[in-house]
Amino acid sequence: MVDKSAEPKSCDVLIAGGSFVGLAAALALSRSSRGTLGVTVVDRTPPGVARAAANDGRASALSAASVNLFRSLGVWDEVQADAQPFTEIDITDSPADAIARPSLLHFDGALGDGEPAAYMLENHILRGALLSCVEAADGISFLAPDVVEGFSVEANGVVARTQSAGAMQARLLLAADGRRSALRKQAGIRSIGWSYPQSGIVATLGIEKPHGGRAVQHFLPPGPFAILPLQGDRVSLVWTDARRRADEIVALDDEAFLHEAKKRMGGLYGALSVAGPRAAFPLDLHLAREFVADRLALVGDAAHGVHPLAGQGLNIGLRDVAALAEVVIEAARLGLDIGSGPVLERYQRWRRFDSAFSGLAMDALNRLFSNDITPLRSVRSLGLGLVDRAPVLKRFFVREAAGLTGSLPRLLKGQEI
Ligand SMILES: Cc1cc2nc3c(=O)[nH]c(=O)nc-3n(C[C@H](O)[C@H](O)[C@H](O)COP(=O)(O)OP(=O)(O)OC[C@H]3O[C@@H](n4cnc5c(N)ncnc54)[C@H](O)[C@@H]3O)c2cc1C
Repeated sequence: MVDKSAEPKSCDVLIAGGSFVGLAAALALSRSSRGTLGVTVVDRTPPGVARAAANDGRASALSAASVNLFRSLGVWDEVQADAQPFTEIDITDSPADAIARPSLLHFDGALGDGEPAAYMLENHILRGALLSCVEAADGISFLAPDVVEGFSVEANGVVARTQSAGAMQARLLLAADGRRSALRKQAGIRSIGWSYPQSGIVATLGIEKPHGGRAVQHFLPPGPFAILPLQGDRVSLVWTDARRRADEIVALDDEAFLHEAKKRMGGLYGALSVAGPRAAFPLDLHLAREFVADRLALVGDAAHGVHPLAGQGLNIGLRDVAALAEVVIEAARLGLDIGSGPVLERYQRWRRFDSAFSGLAMDALNRLFSNDITPLRSVRSLGLGLVDRAPVLKRFFVREAAGLTGSLPRLLKGQEI
C-alpha cells in the first residue's frame, strides 16, 4: 500500500477509483489549487498490478484536447516518447475478402497547425505515468489497495467508509469507480442505456511492414475492426464481434488467432506476430440520469460508457475532469463550499448533454455500419463519399475527433485555471 500521510482521515476531495480518470482528477484539482485543496484517492488495485502490461492490453486514442490536459498536469512529458501520432485515418466498409479496399473516407491526422489530432498510447504506460505523478505530488494521498465501501452525507460534508483506512471525511466525494460504479448505485442514481450483442476484442500485434502512423477503421457486418498504430512496428486491434464469437476468437491459440486477424487485415502489414495479451470486453452504452447528488459527482465511466468505435470513452471522461476541476477551483477561489449544490449543478450542466450526445452518436454509427443491409450500405457509402469531397466538413470532423469543439474547459485548451 502506498500511503504517504499516515492518517489521511480528512480531506477536501475524496476520489473513489484511482484509474485514468480518478488520478487525472486528483492531479487537476491539486495542481490547479496550488496544493491548497487536500485530495485523497482510494483504489482497489495494487499499484504494481495497475502498472503491469498484462493487467490491461488496451491502448487508447488520446485526442489533442486530452493531450493538452496531460501537458498541463505534467504527465505528457513522461509518456510522449511512447505515444504514436496519427498521420492519417482511413474508413472503409469493403468485404473482408475483397482484394482492393477503397477508402470511403480519408482524413489527414494533423490539425491546421500541423499538431496531430490524436495519439495512440498503451493504457499501462498512461496509468503508470499518472500513478508516478500522483505519488510525487505533495497535496495528494494515495491509498491502494483499498476500497470505498459506502458513504453517508452530513451537514457540511460526506463521510466515506473504507475497507482498510477507516472513515474518511471530505467536502466533496468523486465517484471515479468505473462503469459498474457502486457509489452511483448507493446514491440512488439510475442509468439509462443498453448492452450491445458485441464484445470488443483487444490485441497488440507485431507487424513486418511499417504502418506509417495510419489508422484504419474497417466496418465489417459483425462490427468495426480498427487497426491502430503504436510506437515501433506494432498495432493495436479493436475488433468488434458477436459476444460468443469474440470469446472463441480470444481463446484461439496464437497461430489461429493471427490467421483470423490476417484475413481481416489483408496483406498490407506483412507477417504478423503476437505482441501482447488479448481480451474481450462486453460492450454497452450507459448514461447516468444525474451526474451529481448531495456532495457527490460522477466522473468518467461511472457517469457514462460509450461504444469504443471512435476511441472516445476516456476522452469524454477527461472532459469531465477538466470541467469539474474548473468549477471546483473557481468556487474555492470565491470562498464557496466546493461540494454545495450550485457548484455541482454547474458541473452537471456542462457535462451531461455533451456526454449523452457523444454516446448516442457512437450508437448511431454502430447501428448504421454493423450490418450488411444493401440499402444501408448504399446510403452510408453515398454519405461518406460526400463528406470525403467536402474539405470544410472534413476539417470539422478532425477538430471534433481532436476534442477541440464545443464549450471547452481551460485545461483542454492548454490553459491554466
Ligand atoms: C475495448 C475498449 C477500447 C477502448 N478504447 C478507447 C480509446 O481508444 N480511447 C478512449 O478514450 N477510450 C477508450 N475506451 C474507454 C476507456 O477505456 C474508458 O472510458 C476508461 O477506462 C474509463 O476510465 P475510468 O477511470 O473512468 O474507469 P476505470 O478505468 O474503469 O477505473 C475504475 C477504477 O475504480 C476502481 N474502483 C472501483 N470500485 C472501487 C471502490 N469501491 N473503491 C476503490 N476503487 C474502486 C477500480 O479498481 C478501477 O481502478 C475503450 C474501452 C474499451 C472497452
